[in-house]
This record gives sequence, structure tokens and C-alpha cells, in this order.
Amino acid sequence: MIGIYGGTFDPIHYGHLRTALEVKEAAGLNEVRFVPCRLPPHRAVPEAEPELRLRMLELALLDAEPGFRIDTQELDRPGPSYMVDTLASIRAEIGIRPLCLIVGLDAFLGLPRWHRWRELSDLAHILVMRRPGSEPDFAGDLAPYVTELRTDQPAPLHHQPAGSIHFVDVTQLDISATRIREAVRTGRSARYLVPDPVWRFIQNEGLY
Ligand code: ATP
Repeated sequence: MIGIYGGTFDPIHYGHLRTALEVKEAAGLNEVRFVPCRLPPHRAVPEAEPELRLRMLELALLDAEPGFRIDTQELDRPGPSYMVDTLASIRAEIGIRPLCLIVGLDAFLGLPRWHRWRELSDLAHILVMRRPGSEPDFAGDLAPYVTELRTDQPAPLHHQPAGSIHFVDVTQLDISATRIREAVRTGRSARYLVPDPVWRFIQNEGLY
């Protein structure tokens, strides 16, 4: 089973890497594909150029956890990076193998604003990373969607290509790329928030 971990990765940090590993273990993923987006539809344009964000991702995954890979398709595609297009292209590649979209709870709560959002669960399962034990109130269109598709065990995900929502408890590392950029901008260190090769790259390139 393949997991898709999308993000701006501006820069990639240990909050991404650790949660990716925990989700991989909890859901029994063979592969986690990190998909850096070129132009996020729902938020500000990333500060670092796409090729620099990709370079940092490559540095972070040197000597990485087995099965961690990078998929550059959103960088190669013109226009906004829509996850539904990304999942459709991976689906075309992998046939009926189970596929999971990995999202943080915050991102999941905004799902109804994503382009053609209802098609996401036709193409993949959705793994939602959450603070252990947290149980938010799902409102609006999300409430019936969660009620209909939720499964409390990861095992059934392996038997269907797509269509379920499963919540995974992950260790909360209160690290955000925004705060890393802010630290660098104000002359503070990002060391130990990002892998050392990424921190050296940020310094050498004068990023942020
Ligand atoms: P920014 O601060 O620029 O918004 P970010 O640190 O949230 O960036 P993104 O690349 O936008 O990073 O995040 C991609 C995905 O990673 C999202 O699904 C988000 O929920 C998740 N994520 C980011 N930081 C963490 C963290 N510390 N712990 C768990 N998940 C995280």
C-alpha cells in the first residue's frame, strides 16, 4: 500500500518526516511518496523556488527510511497543483493497488475547499494524522462524509483500492515551516528542526 504525503515543504522538517514514519508503521505502508507542490491552490505562493524545495527534500531523504520516495509530478505540471489530478495519475500507474492520501487534521478539516474533493476518496483512502485521542466535531459536508467512510482499523484499507477514511494518532511535534522561515529570517538557527544537510543547504543558499 502506497501513501502520498503532499506539501509545500518550504522547507521539509522533522514534523513531516517523523509523522510520515509513524503513519507508515501504523497503516502498514510499503511506500511513502513525498509530493512537493508547485503552486498550492489554497495558500500563499511558497517562498523558496520549486527546485530548491525539491533539493531540500532530496537532502532530507538521503539515507532515508526504506520506502520513502519523492514524486515530482506536481512540479512538472503547469498550473495549480490539484491533489485530485495527482492521485488520478498515480492511480493510472498502479492499477487497483491500495493507495492512501496522508493529511494532517487541519488540512482534512479544509478538505471541502479542495478541487473536486469528493473524488479524492474514489481514488485513494484518506489517512488523517491527529493528536492522540483528539476527536474534532466534523461540520458541514465533512460530517456525513466521515460517518460514511470511516474505518477504525487499518487492515480493511489493504483490501480495497480506495474509499475509506482512517485516523492515525501521531506524536505531536510542534514544528512548522512558517516558524522555521521566521527563525532564519531573524537570524536564529533551524538546526535540529530540519535534518542537518537541509540546514546547511538553507545557509549556503541564503534561503529565507
Ligand atoms: P507552513 O508552515 O509553511 O504552512 P507546514 O510546516 O505546515 O508549512 P506543509 O508542507 O504545508 O508544511 O505541510 C504538508 C503536510 O504536512 C500537511 O498535511 C500538514 O498537515 C503536515 N504537517 C506539517 N507540519 C506537521 C507537523 N509538525 N506534524 C504533523 N504534520 C505536519
